[in-house]
Amino acid sequence: MLFYEVECFCCKKKFRIYEGSAGYANFKENNQRGKYTCESCSHTIRLEAIFNLLRK
Ligand SMILES: [Zn+2]
Repeated sequence: MLFYEVECFCCKKKFRIYEGSAGYANFKENNQRGKYTCESCSHTIRLEAIFNLLRK
């Protein structure tokens, strides 16, 4: 199985993006940016974004 090993910019843990997952195509397109979050951090960030929207 193909995967990329990247570092989560939030918690600095290494995690893998597997071929066919939601992040994989995104990773290939945005290779240079280097901003990737692991499952738990992306979940947290998404929740925070929702809370920010609700606060407005
Ligand atoms: Zn993380």
